[in-house]
Order: sequence, then C-alpha cells, then structure tokens
Amino acid sequence: MAFPITRLRRLRQSEQLRSLVRETRLTPSSFVYPMFVCPGEGVRKPVGSMPGVCNLSVDEAVKEAAQVYSLGVPSVILFGLPEKKDEVATGAWADDGIVQQAARAIKREVPKLLLMGDVCLCEYMSHGHCGIVRAVPQSLGAAVAAPPAAITDFEIVNDATLEILARSAVSLTRAGIDIIAPSDMMDGRVAAIRKALDAAGFINTPILSYAAKMASGFYGPFREAADSTPQFGDRRSYQMDGANLREAMREIELDIEEGADMIMVKPAMPYLDVIAAARLRFDLPLAAYQVSGEFAMIEAAARNNWIDRDRVMMESLQSIRRAGASIILTYFAKDAAKLLG
Ligand SMILES: [Zn+2]
Repeated sequence: MAFPITRLRRLRQSEQLRSLVRETRLTPSSFVYPMFVCPGEGVRKPVGSMPGVCNLSVDEAVKEAAQVYSLGVPSVILFGLPEKKDEVATGAWADDGIVQQAARAIKREVPKLLLMGDVCLCEYMSHGHCGIVRAVPQSLGAAVAAPPAAITDFEIVNDATLEILARSAVSLTRAGIDIIAPSDMMDGRVAAIRKALDAAGFINTPILSYAAKMASGFYGPFREAADSTPQFGDRRSYQMDGANLREAMREIELDIEEGADMIMVKPAMPYLDVIAAARLRFDLPLAAYQVSGEFAMIEAAARNNWIDRDRVMMESLQSIRRAGASIILTYFAKDAAKLLG
C-alpha cells in the first residue's frame, strides 16, 4: 500500500503518538559513568578537554559515586592515576593501589552501586603502554635507516603482560570491584584473567571484555584525564585497526571462547556498524564506550553555540542504543539520567 493510502506522517502528529511508536528508548539503567581516581584529599581537578569531568581523590570519588547512584545510574567504571609509575605497573595490582582504595571506600558508602574495574597497565607504567615493553635488537638495515635518538625498536610483550593483568584483576576484585573489564587488547587476557579469578575463589565475578577496541584518535582527551599517553610509539600493535569489521568479529568471538560474560565495542559513534554487526552475531550483553573524544566534540561545539548540547547528547546516545548496545559507558551518564528522570 503506497501513498496516498499510506502516510507515515500520521504517526508523527503529536509527542504522544511519536512516543507510542518509538522503537528505541534510553534509560539511566543502561549507563555506566567513568571516573578517574587520584591521590590526595578533597581533590577535584578538572580535565581541561572534558568539561565537567574531574580527577577525584578517593573521598570526592565517594561523593560523586553517591550522586551517580542517586540519579538512577547503576554503575561506574574506575580508572586510576597512581602516585608513582614504574616498569611493572605496581599501582595496578598493589593492594593499596588507588583504584583498590576507591573501590573499598565506595563499596562502604554506596554498596549497591556496581563497580567496574578497568584492567590495563598504561596508567601505571612509566612508558604509558598497556603492556610490558622490551627493546628488540635492531636489524642492520634499521640501524642504518633510523635516526640514532628514535625509540623505534621496542615490542609490547604479550604473554608476560598477561600475568600482571591477571594479578590486577584479582587485586581489584579483592578490593570490591564487581565487574572486571580488561581494556589492554593483549591476546589471551580474558582466559588468563578468568583462570586467575577462579583460582582466587572469585568464580562469580563477571568479565566485561573490551573485545573490539580500536586504535583511535578519539581517545585524545582521555589521555589527559588518565595521564596515560605513551611516551614513545603508539598502540597500533595491540589495539585494532579501525578499518577491520571482520577482525572485530574474530576478536569478540575469541574473547567469548575465553570466557567473557559481556563484550564491548570502543569507541562507539565512529563504529556503530561494528556494534550492529556484533549485536546480530553474538548473544552476550553488548556494551559500547562513548569515548572522551566523542564527548569532547559535542561539548566543544555546544560551547560555541553551534549545536544544542542536550539534544545532540541524547541523539548520540540513542544512536548507540539503536545500533544494538544495551550498556553504554558515557561521560554524559549523569546529565542524560537527569534529562530522563
Ligand atoms: Zn591501556
């Protein structure tokens, strides 16, 4: 049946009608709010490129967590800025690590808030990479071709990194983290973490794997927030090439085989097709991370009055939901929850 019998505008006449036939709905219950915990007391250090986002000392993180929970957002994901960085990421797995401290404090004050723990090493390594770095012997050709001062000959060591990641996961769980979320993109990390958690008696701690995490320019502002910029090289030898949809499916499939309970695609908006493909293909709960650059672009344009911030914020979240993500990690979690509440 075509026009004039069919008129799609009939169902768009009022907000009541539009709401009745709306296919995608957002609720605060699907949001996860990222938080950056730093040493000190009473610290709320604004992240310049992410308006409204701060580095928070543990006491301030507790207050923020309580506010997040009161808005109906069920979960936060914690990132840490340690006092000291080193070559073995001690801050990631130490019992008194900054995220471990925050997890204990938040669990005491806001016990029902679900705590996700990002498991990675970049924030805790002096070189800012997500794994152990080893220098590799230069080939004769490279030695001739490379400028003497350039650090080009290094390798992020996969298998040795797994042990530190697993140790971090156990330490975080012990501190009260409810969901372990590895973001490092080493091969085999989900299996290594599952094995370590089980061996430590944490058989019921779920793993949300950053399964398809792309090497992306959209992470720029996060590196300021988490102080995790690589001191040399980049992350392309472990994070995925954003051009590859089929490889993203393989990454997800392998993480599921290794024991992931939930999977994630990151970033979100430039990779909505990856989210949609994953939704069709896999039956696990699917998360997407609306990353710092996505957030910063919207905030920056809104500050120039080039866009309507709230409207674009909700539209961006809706697009992620419509693509198929049931869980959305977003810096907009609090403000979107206020609008939805
Ligand atoms: Zn990392």
